[in-house]
Amino acid sequence: MAVLPEGDARQQWIQVQTRLRGEFGETNYSTWLKPLEFAEIDGERAVLAVPTQFMRDWVLANYADRIRSIWSTINPAVRQVALNVRPGAGLAMRPSPPSANPLVRPASDAQELEELGVRLDPRFTFETFVVGKPNEFAVAAAERVAAEPTPPFNPLFLYGGVGLGKTHLMHAIGWRAREVDPTRRIVYLSAEKFMYQFVRALRSKDTMSFKEMFRSVDLLMVDDVQFISDKDSTQEEFFHTFNALVERGKQIVISADRSPADLAGLEERIRSRLGWGLVADIHPTTYELRLGILQAKAEQLKVQVPSDVIEFLAQRINSNVRELEGALNRIVHQAGLIHRPVTVEMALDVLRDLLRANDRRITVEEIQRAVVEHYQLKLADMASSRRSRVVARPRQVGMYLAKQLTPRSLPEIGKKFGGRDHTTVMHAIKQVEKLVREDPAFADDVEQVRRRLMA
Ligand code: ADP
Ligand code: MG
Repeated sequence: MAVLPEGDARQQWIQVQTRLRGEFGETNYSTWLKPLEFAEIDGERAVLAVPTQFMRDWVLANYADRIRSIWSTINPAVRQVALNVRPGAGLAMRPSPPSANPLVRPASDAQELEELGVRLDPRFTFETFVVGKPNEFAVAAAERVAAEPTPPFNPLFLYGGVGLGKTHLMHAIGWRAREVDPTRRIVYLSAEKFMYQFVRALRSKDTMSFKEMFRSVDLLMVDDVQFISDKDSTQEEFFHTFNALVERGKQIVISADRSPADLAGLEERIRSRLGWGLVADIHPTTYELRLGILQAKAEQLKVQVPSDVIEFLAQRINSNVRELEGALNRIVHQAGLIHRPVTVEMALDVLRDLLRANDRRITVEEIQRAVVEHYQLKLADMASSRRSRVVARPRQVGMYLAKQLTPRSLPEIGKKFGGRDHTTVMHAIKQVEKLVREDPAFADDVEQVRRRLMA
């Protein structure tokens, strides 16, 4: 049999890849196919290198047949495709198990861990975090966790409403911990990403490397665990990972938008376990904290913002820090556009909608009215026990918005929706959160109801 010049075979692989990309789409392609590297043609076998066993199994199960048949149309001599594991092959996605000797670490180690998690955001450090009464306890706890080589408490559970700095604090822990000990293996990721990775490992029947990867970490930070709640197998795996790390004396930091006790949907033993360490809540901002944050942000933006404008914003935008930052950015941007100094008058004008939303105290009744108008139902449907989806879904939207837009507690909300108990409300909120993420049309409906309320 004629031996193919290597350059030709490489060329063929590029052609095969192009076809694969067209057939399987960009995401599959870049995750699974692009990292495959041409190795050699050995008789009638085309040999590719893959970076990990995990990927090899997946590609074999899902793509190898197609690779072979495309290749043989380009070069009929090729009748088989083989995959060899070669660490370092390809470019993307290389979660390989840690090296046995912790002193010998491959250079790509830090990068691997970042792929497992998410890169830390350079803006989110302790230095840029403004400390005040509402968050000082959480900050102190976070600083200790970052500084100490063995966990002072495990886990550190941070909770608070949206936009109050949970994610910022976790990144800050990561940066500081890395500064204190650059060899510490740090992973930060959202609970969603954790689930996604686990489900993918399950599908390819390779949970081993998943476990290995996560259990080799020194500091694991999982953000927004309220999203982990309803998928049983991921919950279980999360719990095992959690226990394995705690047993090995590794630090875990968790965040959620509610306390461990309020994480309905989570198994009881897991919920209670999450509360064993230190639970630190971040309270809603105070006027003083908002002032401090605005001053710090204005300084970072290197703009002069008159103190009356800062005070005005701190007074009027009392929802959360994200909105506060957004408001400041908007007026600074506007001032730049029209080459005018920032004034209170301008802020009033530019931030009209935001200010109105912050001013209005929306009631649960108003929300129910807006929901039934939007979905063309009767007000009684909000309290009825009918379970048909046409009513049940809007009712869930109502509960969700009530939690978001009013200070009412879950039991209070349940009461106003026909005397339902707080776990039902919790479930409704989760359901809506999930649908909002997954179904754009549904998300749009919710947004329209919200706008109706803000108008
Ligand atoms: P969460 O994760 O709790 O929803 P984030 O950490 O994403 O909130 O914070 C939202 C925004 O507000 C981020 O840009 C963050 O930097 C900023 N932020 C929140 N709290 C503070 C604070 N105390 N000092 C400075 N910036 C803050
Ligand atoms: Mg966050």
